[in-house]
Amino acid sequence: MPHFCDVAVAVPLDMVFTYAIPPGIEPVVGGRVLVPFRQQRMSGIVVELHDRPPQVKTKKVIEALDLSPVLDEQLLKLGKWIADYYLAPLGEVFRTMLPLSAEFKRAVNYRITDEGRMALHLAGMSGSPARSKRAPEQQLVEFRVLDYLAERESVREERLRGTTRAAKALLTGMARKKWIAREDVSAAQDAARLVKVAVLRSAETSTKKLNENQRTLVETLAAAGGRVLVEALRSLDVPRTTLSTLVRRGLIELVEEPQDLTTPKLKPRQSPFEFEFSAAQKNARTKIGEAVASHKFAGLLLHGITGSGKTAVYLACMREVLEQGRSSILLVPEIGLTPAVAADLHQVFGDQVAILHSGLSNAERAEQWHRIRRGEARVVAGTRSAVFAPVSDLALIIVDEEQDSSYKQEETPRYNARDVAVMRAKMAGAVVVLGSATPSLESYYNAKKNKYTLVELPDRVEQRPLPEVEIVDMRQEFQETGQEQVISRKLADEIRERLEKKEQVMVLLNRRGYSPVVLCRACGKTLQCQNCAVSMTHHKRERKMECHYCGHVARIPDKCAHCGSEYVYFVGTGSEKLEELLHGMFPQARIGRLDRDTVRGREDFEHALNALNEGALDMLVGTQMIAKGHDIHGVTLVGVVGADMALGLPDFRAAERTFQLLTQVAGRAGRGQTPGKVILQTYFQDHYAVQFAARHDFAGFYEKELQFRAWMHYPPYSAIANVLIRSEKLDEALTWSGELGRWFEKTKHEGIRVLGPAAAPITRLKRDYRYHFILKSPSREKMNALLRAMLAEAAARKIPRTQVIVDVDAVWLM
Ligand SMILES: [Zn+2]
Ligand SMILES: [Zn+2]
Repeated sequence: MPHFCDVAVAVPLDMVFTYAIPPGIEPVVGGRVLVPFRQQRMSGIVVELHDRPPQVKTKKVIEALDLSPVLDEQLLKLGKWIADYYLAPLGEVFRTMLPLSAEFKRAVNYRITDEGRMALHLAGMSGSPARSKRAPEQQLVEFRVLDYLAERESVREERLRGTTRAAKALLTGMARKKWIAREDVSAAQDAARLVKVAVLRSAETSTKKLNENQRTLVETLAAAGGRVLVEALRSLDVPRTTLSTLVRRGLIELVEEPQDLTTPKLKPRQSPFEFEFSAAQKNARTKIGEAVASHKFAGLLLHGITGSGKTAVYLACMREVLEQGRSSILLVPEIGLTPAVAADLHQVFGDQVAILHSGLSNAERAEQWHRIRRGEARVVAGTRSAVFAPVSDLALIIVDEEQDSSYKQEETPRYNARDVAVMRAKMAGAVVVLGSATPSLESYYNAKKNKYTLVELPDRVEQRPLPEVEIVDMRQEFQETGQEQVISRKLADEIRERLEKKEQVMVLLNRRGYSPVVLCRACGKTLQCQNCAVSMTHHKRERKMECHYCGHVARIPDKCAHCGSEYVYFVGTGSEKLEELLHGMFPQARIGRLDRDTVRGREDFEHALNALNEGALDMLVGTQMIAKGHDIHGVTLVGVVGADMALGLPDFRAAERTFQLLTQVAGRAGRGQTPGKVILQTYFQDHYAVQFAARHDFAGFYEKELQFRAWMHYPPYSAIANVLIRSEKLDEALTWSGELGRWFEKTKHEGIRVLGPAAAPITRLKRDYRYHFILKSPSREKMNALLRAMLAEAAARKIPRTQVIVDVDAVWLM
């Protein structure tokens, strides 16, 4: 055994730490060890075993937690790449790659061994040392532990330590003496949340003797295969007592089960394989299949317009991979992983699929991780961090909606799962497919440069036409009506027409809350968040002011906080007010709202969409949530009343984001038999993002936007990094950014543009004052070298590492 090991500990320091390996402890590379760190014990990942004595005195490894690596060679390599590329501490990268509870919070039980019983027995014969005055404190505690365990099967560590007041080291020592044995117990089983499921007791239940409500319940259950979540039954619009009556009569049984996505939902969707593939879909499937068969790295960009059937292609390819006994990973945006999508995946892959979504508890996440590692699940679907799933023989990674900003983690390590997916596929000799209706500039550029193969799905399924888009110039609307309108006359007319025809409408306003600004007419000041330099938003129904950046909540003001004047006005419109306005204009219409105030979990989201799908709603209003990837056939009109606010922001991605949002939301219209229409209200009617989106012209937008990026030295022509200096103390933030600014000035950095220091567009956020630098360079290597030197300089100047944020490939420059 080598004498030393280098350990990556999850602390914000850009280094690994060397520990001595005491006899009897056998760490493995890629496995976890428990080590003393400052005054604590922490677990870390072993990155190297060696015999090079370090210069300084080393501490000893306390315990090796794994017999075999938890991060295999490839994932270790991937982690090191991330640390290097994003300038993130390696230990923090590894922590992100492993599900937290599997890393730090493993449940450990102790039980007494035969040796322990013998020791206890011998002690009893020679007079209990527990009662002997001379017995050192440690021995006392040891026998207290043995006594306690002797009467029990197996005891959870926390309980044992709580009862006997034994230190962790003492238990480790006893385990080393083999008096007691540690065992890992999966915390997943007892931590799994239980849900109530209604089970139909007999499929042949006669419905004749039932009243209408009871019949509805029984028939729904029967249609869903006899088992449905009780929670899901609540949406049926029958009184709650109906269910209890049926239970009392023995027709339905209620059972508690661990929450599991396999429990059928109310409306099982059609199998994604029940329709014919179009020629374009077949072509895409063949191209991906051929690339997989070559066992070599390949990148494909699947550019399929909205409604062109990308998901069916994904599933077919993943099924092919599974049939070959290999593994695949499907990444979806935060909002894309609804229970319906999970149900689709289960339908196609059964229990071969592991689904990793943000609703999982740590224990459940760990359990899924172990299933994948054992090879029980060879198909993995999930949000951002699923890119680290420990699958073996990886053949295919698919990144759906690859441009989605939820793939970028906005905390350390600030990685983009799409780019990590490409690197992982490279390392594994696998195929990566980036799919989108509106690919990012970067990916489309890479495809044009032949770094990726471009595969297009240019038509909607069943030859449905793209919706017609009509632009309404809101400046002109103002001139003609003489007042600020939220809903133009044109949009109002179109909505009225659809409602009369019993068709459905979606209206997008990408801003939640009731009014975004509270303004004092006497002094002109607005109500700002006490932690951030942003306006508080008025939420009418919840009777509060809320900051959308830090979550701070305040009372609704009745007078100005600055001058005491009573003339405070609520200005502007958010989705809550839009819903109210539409209610006023169309009192008969049933209107639902979808934004972060109405959607707390994945179920709520699904719920609102189901209601629209089943015709229980006539209209759905909401933020960008309504724009993403759902297939509602009855929607024939989409109104966009506010999606271009971003065009006024100082962010070079504003045009791209606006184009993507407009294209996505327009894609919601006309997915059924009736062609769709989009009314696009804008104050920027001449802006190219608006014009190209209205014409569904991706290529046109792409050419124009690339020119702009080239002139301004922005991605994809330059690598970009945002360096943010933050502190709760304004003078600290100023001093530090000034010091680093002078350092940048006198340091040679040929081929790298450094802009700043400047106050960040949001000058104060979550109590921190913020200054930033923007670095641009065609050479990523040079840029990262300069950033590394800057971090070393900051460390030498004792600027805390946590206050200097380096965001490589930043997607948000505010
Ligand atoms: Zn005032
Ligand atoms: Zn705030």
